Formats: sequence, structure tokens, C-alpha cells
Amino acid sequence: MKKPIIVANWKLNGNKNFVQEFIKYCNLHLNKNFKKSTIIISPPIIYIKYIKKFLKNKKIYFSSQNVDYHDQGAFTGEISANMLSEIGVKYSILGHSERRKNHFESNKIIAKKFYSLKKNNLVPILCIGETNKEKKLNLTEKILKKQVDSIFLKCGKLAFHKTIVAYEPIWAIGSGKSASPYLINKILKMIKKYIIKNSSNNIKVYMQYGGSVSYKNFEEIIRLKYVDGVLIGSDSLNFKNFCKIINISDFINK
Ligand code: PEP
Repeated sequence: MKKPIIVANWKLNGNKNFVQEFIKYCNLHLNKNFKKSTIIISPPIIYIKYIKKFLKNKKIYFSSQNVDYHDQGAFTGEISANMLSEIGVKYSILGHSERRKNHFESNKIIAKKFYSLKKNNLVPILCIGETNKEKKLNLTEKILKKQVDSIFLKCGKLAFHKTIVAYEPIWAIGSGKSASPYLINKILKMIKKYIIKNSSNNIKVYMQYGGSVSYKNFEEIIRLKYVDGVLIGSDSLNFKNFCKIINISDFINK
């Protein structure tokens, strides 16, 4: 039986009112419900302490949406892995296509961030994915393997042990149309096998899919053999839908 890992990526969304409504709704509808899923919320970092304090369900984990790879120093605007750890953050999304594109984060920079997270005992949620153009040119496998290889290069053969890898095809993110179940399973299987083959020991790596997951297609996706969890953007901002997803996840696990 799998224990689905559900990550809610709020991106640059939410405000004080939204956060209060979210907490109120979850306190009413979530508390007694989920037991068999790992729920991770990734709001803008400044809201984490507040959500942690007022959310009754203390089994919810928190993730950052970014981290700097330096420990400290003259790096204006940045937050280190150790600082995240000090406020109770356990996970960090990295390599998201929006950061690769808008903040020019290369595979090399992402690998340094991955390294820093592991050094500070945080769990990296590494996003990998190809563009529509790359897909059409049949480059998906090559692109994904390159994104994975840079992590191996910087962090060694045990890099992926107890980490999460989220396959997020860029063409599916925010499009309202997820990749097909067949494709999701096929790609996650390929990446998982590749990671295990290149690791020195019998490692445990968790595979996620992200890209237009909603409460409507969640069940079909989570039931796929190679899917350990999902990363959700838009539908995680609709807290009614988000709670529905958690309830479905718990229900199918019985
Ligand atoms: C994302 O941006 O990581 C994502 C999965 O977004 P959405 O669910 O909106 O496609």
C-alpha cells in the first residue's frame, strides 16, 4: 500500500485573508480525515510560521519553494537551508521550471541547492521536465537524464536516497490538461530505473507527477504504479478541492 505524498505549491499566491480562510477550512474539514497520506504545503515562506501555529492538524509538513546554496554571507534576499530548518521546514522544492526560466537557474545551480538541502537534512523535491518543443523533438528522455545527472555529479551516488523527484512536463503545467496516465507512468518508470541504476546502494526514491493535477484526475494518477505522489499548483489554491484530494487519497488507501 502506498502512502501518497501530496505537495501543494502555492507559488506567489495568497495573502493574510486567504491564509486565515485556508486554516479555518482545513481545521474544520481536514482534522480527522487524513492519516494515510503525507501532506506538504509550500506557501510563500513568510506564512509558514503562522499556518504552523494555527493549523490544528500537526501532521502537515512544510516546504519552501526555493533555497540558496550558501550557508550565510553577503547574499541579499536569500534564505539558507539551515534557516528553513530552524523554522520547521522539512522539504524544499527546487528546479521548478518557473525558477529555471525566470531566475535562470541552471542544472549546476540546482545541484548546489540540492547538496545544501541534504547537508542540512532537508528533503529536496527536485522538479524535472521538458518543454513542448523538446517533447516534439523526442528529447524528453535526454533532457530528464541530464537534469538528474547534474545531481549525481555534485552529490554522489547516494544523492537521491530519501528524496522526491517530480516529473513536471512544462507543457502540462498550468495548462489545465495533464499528461496522459500512460505517459506519466512510462516516464516515471524510466527515471526511477535510471536513478536506481546509477546509485550505489539500494536507495529509496519517491516519484511524483505534477502538471494540471486536480481533484478530478487525482485518483487516476495516484493509482498508477510508478506514482508515489503529486505536486499540485492551481488546484491546491482552491482549498476545498485540495481537501477533496486529501480525502480521496485517504479513501483509496483503505
Ligand atoms: C506546478 O507549477 O508545479 C504545477 C504543477 O502547477 P499546476 O498544477 O497548476 O499545473
